[in-house]
Amino acid sequence: MHCVVGSGPSGIACAQALLDKGLEVRMLDAGLKLEAPRAQAVEQLGASAPAGWDPKLVAMLKGELAAGPGGLPQKLSFGSDFPYRDGEKLLNCTFDGVGLRPSLAQGGLSNVWGAAMLPYLDADLDGWPIKNGELAGHYAAVLKMTGVAARRDDLAAMFPLYTDEPGELELSRQARTLLGNMDRNKTALRESGIHHGVSRVAVKARRSPRDTGCVYCGMCMHGCPYGYIYNSAATLRELERNPRFTYQPDAIVTSLVENDEAVTIHSRNRLTGGEQTTVASRVYLAAGVIPTTKLLLESRRDFDRTLWMKDSQYFLIPLLFARRTRGVRQEALHTLSQLFLEILDPAVSPHTVHLQIYTYSNLIYDAVRHALRRFKMSFNFLTSSLEERLVVAQGFLHSDDSSKIAVTLRQSPDVRLELKAEINPRARATVRKVTGKLMRNAWRLGAAPVLPMVHVAEPGRSYHGGGTLPMRQEPGPFESDTLGRPHGWRRVHAVDATILPGIPATTITLSVMANAHRIGWESASLT
Ligand SMILES: Cc1cc2nc3c(=O)[nH]c(=O)nc-3n(C[C@H](O)[C@H](O)[C@H](O)COP(=O)(O)OP(=O)(O)OC[C@H]3O[C@@H](n4cnc5c(N)ncnc54)[C@H](O)[C@@H]3O)c2cc1C
Repeated sequence: MHCVVGSGPSGIACAQALLDKGLEVRMLDAGLKLEAPRAQAVEQLGASAPAGWDPKLVAMLKGELAAGPGGLPQKLSFGSDFPYRDGEKLLNCTFDGVGLRPSLAQGGLSNVWGAAMLPYLDADLDGWPIKNGELAGHYAAVLKMTGVAARRDDLAAMFPLYTDEPGELELSRQARTLLGNMDRNKTALRESGIHHGVSRVAVKARRSPRDTGCVYCGMCMHGCPYGYIYNSAATLRELERNPRFTYQPDAIVTSLVENDEAVTIHSRNRLTGGEQTTVASRVYLAAGVIPTTKLLLESRRDFDRTLWMKDSQYFLIPLLFARRTRGVRQEALHTLSQLFLEILDPAVSPHTVHLQIYTYSNLIYDAVRHALRRFKMSFNFLTSSLEERLVVAQGFLHSDDSSKIAVTLRQSPDVRLELKAEINPRARATVRKVTGKLMRNAWRLGAAPVLPMVHVAEPGRSYHGGGTLPMRQEPGPFESDTLGRPHGWRRVHAVDATILPGIPATTITLSVMANAHRIGWESASLT
């Protein structure tokens, strides 16, 4: 039996590959779920059209936005913080200036993710022992699981779609205006190193009037009541129909012991505290970078050794349109990323800088309000006159341009994982260059950056982090081989972001899933 730890995107992708190879798979998972009253409310909304929704239920599922680490609002799932709950406490982690948190949820962070998906460019994979050639088939396999809404536009020449059947979402009016401006000025933008296209998001779009798919209810930032935004918990339910697959929830894996034939997995029941052991011929760790790193360090009692977590640093650049788009609050739209901008300009960075354009949504405006407060500007002013002119670019940098996070397992007074940010001044400098480039191209975009509102988030806040035990062709201590096996382990594979040698800016999850699928597929024949 092969054991996968975690039901987030990487665990599900790996389990699918192992099952497709004919193996028996058991998934151990901490498995927290949405509270029953909220789950019932989601079911109620999902059973009817938005026009018939009870406003009280909608308000409950939108929830109160809690300020997360660093002041930006923490994105919730149907008003619940269950995707982040208990992780710090049960795994015993401490954070100093770090925005990333572990998830103990069924489906992991795919309960809250933004579903943006763009593959990596080979040029951004320096230091990697594998390139896109090895990942291509696995990108395609993963996209069959997640589905994707995308267009065959100019971005496809650089970033292959890896699917012949993308769905197509309607753009919001603000996005159509921006796209029209950029299309008209495409040549000049290209010369300036700005490549643009429609966002690729793991969302089910209608293919015909009779098909099911996105209804543009604007709830995306709170959770899709219809389940049209990909969540790996949905694939878990499909895997559970396979007789070779078993799922064990409420299991917190605490340590691993390997011998020549098998791995013994020690776990603790999340609810009762009861201890359990499971024996597997191979183990695939997909618990997310923080839990996986802790588990590996703790299993070998590697105390006081600092590993470096790489981060794709996150920033916000609000953009103000010259022209208003009236009535954005009433518009039927989706509120995930609408457009992608890729900046490929060595004067800005040796690597791709990735921007996601978000048009009107209440959550984005709450994030902007936090930024405005710093400048003591009134939120009423923003809501009354800015929202019809404002869109937000969420940006990501390559990890080489970003700050990093020191990760150390301490033994006393109790065993805990310490995470501490180390600031790289290059991050702010690169964001300044990106902002300057957008400013110089403002008339081509029809919108200009609002300089005082540019915000660089704390390290980890992108949730695009990993690389504590990077894959290498010839791994040394605290590195992994190309099948994700950390130095010294033969039957234990890390398959999540823990093993990425660097973090390119162009969204992490699609590539993590493809790599996890690759490792499951390629290791299945090992004895
Ligand atoms: C607000 C937000 C927005 C995001 N938007 C995007 C986006 O648009 N595009 C993108 O590419 N990425 C995005 N991400 C990142 C994305 O969610 C993660 O990359 C992805 O979820 C990682 O998948 P994973 O399976 O490796 O880990 P996780 O999703 O963290 O799943 C970990 C799994 O392991 C289980 N687990 C953890 N510890 C243990 C343990 N000790 N024992 C047993 N089980 C355990 C958990 O229960 C869970 O099932 C976003 C993240 C956040 C928070």
